[in-house]
Amino acid sequence: MDGKKDYREELFYEPKNGYDAMDAGERALMERYCEQYKIFLDGARTERESVRSAIELAKLHGFEELTPETSLVPGSRVYYSNRGKSLLLAVIGEKPLSGGMNLTAAHVDSPRLDLKQLPLYEDNGLAFFKTHYYGGIKKYQWTAIPLELHGVIALKDGESIDVCIGRDPGDPVFTVSDLLPHLAGEQMAKKLSEGIKGEALNLLAGSVPYDDDGKDRVKLAVMSILNSSYGITEADFISSELYAVPAFEVRDLGLDRSMIGGYGHDDRSCAFAELRAILDIEGVPARSAVCILADKEETGSDGVSGMKSQAFEYFMGRLCRAQGCTLEDCFANSLCVSADVSAAFDPNYPDVSEKRNAAQLNYGVALNKFTGARGKSGTNDAPAELVAKIRRVLDGAGVQWQMCELGKVDQGGGGTVAMFMGNRNIDTIDAGVPVLSMHAPYEVVAKYDCYMTYKCMAAVYAIEE
Ligand code: MN
Ligand code: MN
Repeated sequence: MDGKKDYREELFYEPKNGYDAMDAGERALMERYCEQYKIFLDGARTERESVRSAIELAKLHGFEELTPETSLVPGSRVYYSNRGKSLLLAVIGEKPLSGGMNLTAAHVDSPRLDLKQLPLYEDNGLAFFKTHYYGGIKKYQWTAIPLELHGVIALKDGESIDVCIGRDPGDPVFTVSDLLPHLAGEQMAKKLSEGIKGEALNLLAGSVPYDDDGKDRVKLAVMSILNSSYGITEADFISSELYAVPAFEVRDLGLDRSMIGGYGHDDRSCAFAELRAILDIEGVPARSAVCILADKEETGSDGVSGMKSQAFEYFMGRLCRAQGCTLEDCFANSLCVSADVSAAFDPNYPDVSEKRNAAQLNYGVALNKFTGARGKSGTNDAPAELVAKIRRVLDGAGVQWQMCELGKVDQGGGGTVAMFMGNRNIDTIDAGVPVLSMHAPYEVVAKYDCYMTYKCMAAVYAIEE
């Protein structure tokens, strides 16, 4: 090194704002992609609705439901819906499955307020639905905002009724009331985590009494509306899954329209990225591509539709048997991107992040070598060799990425489905969209990062070995 030349450019690693290197053509592609994502997000407020929308799009792009009769040949495009709550899509590649697949795994469930199994009651002339929150929420964020009711009521006779109240502009909405500041002295003196109790998250559902002299007249009036709309009685709530979700529109955010505000970016921003990328595969890829839209990530990935479920082996086993290869060989040679959102650095709360290793809006898809908490417990921790391979793949495809960690050491932590893929002997790394206000009813992402996450997933599906 001679003393005159500035070697910083050559020797230092400096993350860059994506807008400094983006041309007009790329920008137009980004805008087009984000308009598609906004439509998807607006209409997919639950895991079931996400799966339904994904299947509709998949069918338009030549995917067929996997049945026992389906013959699987290179170029076959199939999907498997796991009880309507999670979805697996595959494009069969040229190379044998014994050599592994390229997988991407996102989740389509988001934090929300679930109705209890016996939700409806009347108190002082008002009708309410009791709720049990789902996933990690800050309870105070879920009061005094408009909420919609989405889900399914399964009847004893086997029929299922889809419920969606509040999405149509003419529909009524719901809300959880909060105290006026004038009378909230005691509440405001409490710790933020104790200001709103879980049992206080009751959804206001009606106020007009039924025209008779009996008891619970408002409850009866609400029940009679539900009975005439859906033919249900109170007992049918027992076999229902009804979720209160934010009623906010998905909108451009900021004067420059560079961001998107909406509910459920975690993790539908990544789910849509990998879905769009697998739909966009043309012809026969070198390696088979599998896109996973999982449920139950927000509660730990347990249960029949979560990523720990053998439903994954059920689907993958079917693909492998068609080629006479073992699941073990396929997994051992596969590569998975766990496509989940990251915490974006928030200048309003700089103390929780370590800036050198924090994701920033507009810096591209955020890679996490590991997630977890404390001394890296509960994490996948991608091997260095895999991280090197991903660097090579993404740089080669012109994908802007950033390496990050979720918060300062010992500040907290979090997990994704990555470890459940790693535990299966599949090389796995986390990559996704940085989010502001993650898990809040209204989350923020940058369009640039959404688009780069899509490009990342496309690059992963294009890996040849
Ligand atoms: Mn997530
Ligand atoms: Mn989450």
